[in-house]
Amino acid sequence: MRPTGSPDPPAGSPARTAALAGSLARVRDRIAAAATAAGRDPGGITLIAVTKTFPAADVVRLAGLGITDIGENRDQEAAPKVAEVAAAGAVVRWHFVGRLQRNKCRSVVRYADLVHSVDSLRLARALDAAAAAHRDSPPPSPPHRSPDRPLEVLVQVSVDGDPARGGAVPDQVLPVAGAVAEAPALRLRGVMAIAPPAWEPRAAFDRLAALAEQVRTAHPDATIISAGMSGDLDAALACGATHLRIGSALLGARDPLR
Ligand SMILES: *Cc1c(COP(=O)(O)O)cnc(C)c1O
Repeated sequence: MRPTGSPDPPAGSPARTAALAGSLARVRDRIAAAATAAGRDPGGITLIAVTKTFPAADVVRLAGLGITDIGENRDQEAAPKVAEVAAAGAVVRWHFVGRLQRNKCRSVVRYADLVHSVDSLRLARALDAAAAAHRDSPPPSPPHRSPDRPLEVLVQVSVDGDPARGGAVPDQVLPVAGAVAEAPALRLRGVMAIAPPAWEPRAAFDRLAALAEQVRTAHPDATIISAGMSGDLDAALACGATHLRIGSALLGARDPLR
């Protein structure tokens, strides 16, 4: 749904495409500056455009502008959007970044390439079962993720230990990571966090980096650190983020109720 007061421009609107191109250029400049300041190669950083509340037409526009990775946070919205984007002929990698309920796993494994939000043993098991079912009997219409590949997974961390926004508390991170690593249909790739609003982003992302290091020591394949949103991408890059999840800085303000 579009925010009230900013109606979706007509499909294929050149004005909307130009606006997205402008905001993408500004975000890329911010990434380049922050990466360079941290002594890092901007080319090694993956920009995920988080398109929740925005229409499939915007995903298609972003794909046309060179965006390869798209994030969504709710299955009810993502599943039909994935189908619309595929029907329009655009090919992107889909990231599921929101809280995941166990009863949505069967749907999410059909389209998600990387799930950022596994935060409990129970969820890891449910996602593994769903991914195994997808692999063994893929849906008759073409699935968006090849069932031959294991589903990639990040462990979401609650850096302040408050599980309210989702995330495993710090002392549960290694056990959850171990469960994902042992799950036959999943592949552990790293960790994700959202900086708690009351924290300095740097403090939150430093804490995440320390946990990421522990996970990587036990599981060398777990090299992804998903951190950094529109307001704190610079701090995240200073602390080693490999994947940024950027919504409003690219797409504009969302409906405040979401
Ligand atoms: C919405 C969302 C984002 C993007 O947030 P912005 O502040 O709009 O960049 C990133 N991560 C998650 C998990 C989100 O739900």
